[in-house]
Formats: sequence, structure tokens, C-alpha cells
Amino acid sequence: VAIRNYIDEFPVESDFELKSEALIVSVKPGCDDIVVKNLYVSIDPYQINRMKTHSSSQKTSSFATSIKPAQPIDAYGVGEVLASGNADFKKGDLVAGLVHWAEYSIVKAHTNMLRKIDSMGFPLTNHLGILGLSGLTAYAGLFEVAKVKEGETVFVSAASGSVGSLAGQLAKLHGCYVVGSAGSDEKVALLKEKLGFDEAFNYKQEKDLTSSLERYFPDGIDVYFDNVGGEMLEAAVANLKPFGRVALCGVISEYTSSKKAAPKMLDLVYKRIKVEGFLAGDFLNVYSDFIAMASQYLGSGKIESLEDVTIGVDTIPSAFIGLFKGDNIGKKIVKLAV
Ligand code: NDP
Repeated sequence: VAIRNYIDEFPVESDFELKSEALIVSVKPGCDDIVVKNLYVSIDPYQINRMKTHSSSQKTSSFATSIKPAQPIDAYGVGEVLASGNADFKKGDLVAGLVHWAEYSIVKAHTNMLRKIDSMGFPLTNHLGILGLSGLTAYAGLFEVAKVKEGETVFVSAASGSVGSLAGQLAKLHGCYVVGSAGSDEKVALLKEKLGFDEAFNYKQEKDLTSSLERYFPDGIDVYFDNVGGEMLEAAVANLKPFGRVALCGVISEYTSSKKAAPKMLDLVYKRIKVEGFLAGDFLNVYSDFIAMASQYLGSGKIESLEDVTIGVDTIPSAFIGLFKGDNIGKKIVKLAV
């Protein structure tokens, strides 16, 4: 899958094209090239920011590096090694790392952060969701950035999504009062009935988000796990307690819209609120702690792993566009090899 041109408006299917080329499966020993048959690829909202005409350069972050028209699109995935010039990987190894929105990839171990995975008895899709980047993001945002404490009040936006559903459940398991917002009544019911959120609401049905949050947090919010930015961030800031914390994970409401609502700055000052943006990739030092916690909760059935899987490389554009329409429930994944 490639983009035809840079995408500056809301994405549509005709922005994407499917291309094919011959695959050479043999590699020279010692050349570091690894041929991977991609089994599952991750569909992530941040990619849209890399598809814009003026996407930032590597100066800000490798996550902002531009995706060029007609070029393969790198993305996280899980696959099987078909051939390897790198002695650390051999044919048949299961790997996770940066591959492409493609059926096969030729990658380099270091550049593409390729690592062998032990499935630990869990489905491979879990290694893109709860045991992968989404899980690490939720864990790092809550415990490393916001330093959430037992008994605190926590608000999570995009709460039925991949990161949000995990952040909310982890906060609940940590002994917090947790409220989530999501974009449909079906998602709200799921949060309350299946994921154990104390409360949840459909933000699309609310007239005034500041009053909605006041209803659920009469004494204020300690921690806001922000996935959406914009008006929701403004409403959360209005409801944060003095010395409240915002783990600024993502601002999806701004990815496809030029309309930006900045939080009222004075509130941040008067309430001495700490807003901290973060990237999961900065927290690889706690990766083993996170895996230990997530796999234990997953294995004992204390946490639900929500996944939304479609099949076939041709479903990637609609799967991606669907993220910005709220079509997905949980981690959006495309299965490539049947
Ligand atoms: P999700 O699974 O949450 O999918 C996106 C969801 O966002 C949609 O289902 C939709 O749910 C919601 N959404 C879409 N548009 C809007 C909008 N305009 N306003 C409010 N909600 C909207 O994706 P992820 O879990 O992968 O990502 C969630 C956030 O976390 C994103 O902002 C992403 O960029 C960020 N992220 C950050 C990382 C980091 O390292 N900092 C790593 C991974 C993700 P609904 O129906 O509720 O509207």
C-alpha cells in the first residue's frame, strides 16, 4: 500500500494505491537484509501526520518522518522470517518490528527494530495490541508519566480504542475511579459492562463537555489520559484538580482537522497542572516490567484485549480511514497471510 499524493484533507480510499513488485527471497549471508512474510500489521492514527505535505522532519521525532507518495509505508507488524543475512535471525523465526503495510518486507534488523518474539502462548495479534506498542503506551502514560496512584480519579478519552481501553483497565486494576469517553452508545456500554469502567459517556451526545466531566468528577480529575486533544482537553483541564496531571498521549481530533481548541492556559497556571507529552518508544527501559504486568493480567483474565481485525492487504486503506471515523473497537489490525 502506498499513498498517491500527500494527504492534507480527511483521508479517502482514492488517496491510496496497491502496488506489486517481484520479491527476491534469497539474501547474501552477512548482508543484514531480512525477508519477512508479514502476518499481521498494525493500523495506527499517527501515520496520517506523516502523510501530510508539510510533515515534520526527523528533527522532532522519527515518528514524524514523512511518508512519500508511491513508497512503501513502514508500520509495526508481526511476521515470519523467510530468509536472513543476519546471523541473529533465521528462517522460521517469529519477529515483531517495523515492517510495511505490505504482504512481504525486506528490512534490516537494527534500523527496523526487529526482535524475535516468544508468543508466550498468546495470539500473535496481542503482540501488536496489549503486549505491544498500545500496551506499553498505556502503561508508560499512566505509571511513568502521570504517576497515577491508587484511589485517584482518572479520565480517559477514546476509551474504547486500543490505547484507551488498556489505560482505563490498568487504572481500574490499580484501584482508581475511572471514567471513559467514546463515540457511540455501543462503545459506552462495552466500557461499563465488559471493561469495568466506573462510568462512561458518548461525547458525541453531550452539549457541553465541561459540564459532562463535572457530572462524573464532582471533586475533580487527578489524571487525564488524553488521546484526543482539542475541546476534550480543554474540558478536562477545566475539571482537573490543582496539581492534576495530563499524560498527553495523542491528539487525534487534530489529525484530520485544522480546527484546534487550545486548553485555557490560565487554568494550567493557576492550578499548577503538569501536561507532559510522551512517546511509548522512550520507555523501552520499563518494557519488561510492562510485559510482566500485562501478560499476568491477560493470562489470569483480569484484562480484556479488544482487537478489531480485517483480512487482506486491500483492507488497509479502509481500516486506516476508519480510525478517524471511530469505526474500530480496540486495536485495529490487518491480517495478511491467511
Ligand atoms: P484507537 O484504537 O483509539 O483508534 C482511534 C479512535 O479515536 C477511534 O476509534 C475514535 O473513537 C477516536 N477518534 C477518532 N477521531 C476522533 C475525534 N475527532 N475526536 C475524538 N475521538 C476521535 O487508536 P490508538 O489507540 O492506536 O491511538 C489512540 C491515541 O493514542 C491517538 O491519538 C494516537 O496517536 C496516540 N498514540 C500515542 C502513542 C505514543 O507513544 N504517545 C502510541 C500509540 C498511540 P470514538 O468512537 O471514541 O470517537
